[in-house]
Amino acid sequence: MTSPVTAAPSANLPASTPAVSLRAVSKTYYRGGQAVPVLADISFDVAHGDFLALMGPSGSGKSTLLNLIAGIDRPSSGQILVDGIDIAQLSEGELAAWRGSHVGFIFQFYNLMPVLTALENVELPLMLTRLNRKQRRQHAELALSMVGLSDRLSHYPSELSGGQQQRVAIARALVTDPTLIVADEPTGDLDKASATDVLALLDQLNRELGKTIIMVTHDARAAETAHAMLHLDKGELFALESNGKTHSLKTESTTAG
Ligand code: ADP
Ligand code: MG
Repeated sequence: MTSPVTAAPSANLPASTPAVSLRAVSKTYYRGGQAVPVLADISFDVAHGDFLALMGPSGSGKSTLLNLIAGIDRPSSGQILVDGIDIAQLSEGELAAWRGSHVGFIFQFYNLMPVLTALENVELPLMLTRLNRKQRRQHAELALSMVGLSDRLSHYPSELSGGQQQRVAIARALVTDPTLIVADEPTGDLDKASATDVLALLDQLNRELGKTIIMVTHDARAAETAHAMLHLDKGELFALESNGKTHSLKTESTTAG
């Protein structure tokens, strides 16, 4: 994973600090007294400005891994550093505040609030910031114009197509200007044309705004938009190369450097 760095890292950090760094991360769920190991000893780095696709069969732990990186869930063991901050060490309150300002989420089924307009949905993450009402509105309008929806501000999700709803969700993900955007099968529920639009937008956010993006996908075409591909299988991670070969990313081989 040595794709070119297209964005300046956040202030006060050495240029070499990865956007995301996982060290020996494991996750085991417990269900009815039964241990369900999902991820075992996962280690990898994502550079600032990278666009990473995470692939693998259903149930292989892709969403679990993404949720750990985004601070939605906590690892059973190991370290997750985002911009040099070990998020597993943060308290619930700190983690919520950190998420609000550092991570934008995009989900397969958009997860928009049905009773709010497009503009209000995009304004929502700004409620946790110091921005006043007028500023929030300006930021939300700008984000919606970036996804080409300036003419849909007062539409409710039910009045928008799937592709438009996902673009609202992208505007919501970028409105707080996070360094990291995580997307869990963002094109999984879209027709081909809408999926193309969504991928073009993600590519633009990555190239022009330098956002670091980690995207779970089943879609080979979606994965091609990314710079690097990781393949997760039975809780173990492999790097996927353009020639179709894979190589294991076990801790021993990635701790150097
Ligand atoms: P993927 O996104 O690759 O399809 P997931 O990360 O959603 O896979 O799930 C990986 C495995 O973890 C699955 O076997 C799933 O049943 C299990 N799992 C996910 N979440 C939980 C949970 N909250 N409790 C117990 N098991 C879970
Ligand atoms: Mg999943």
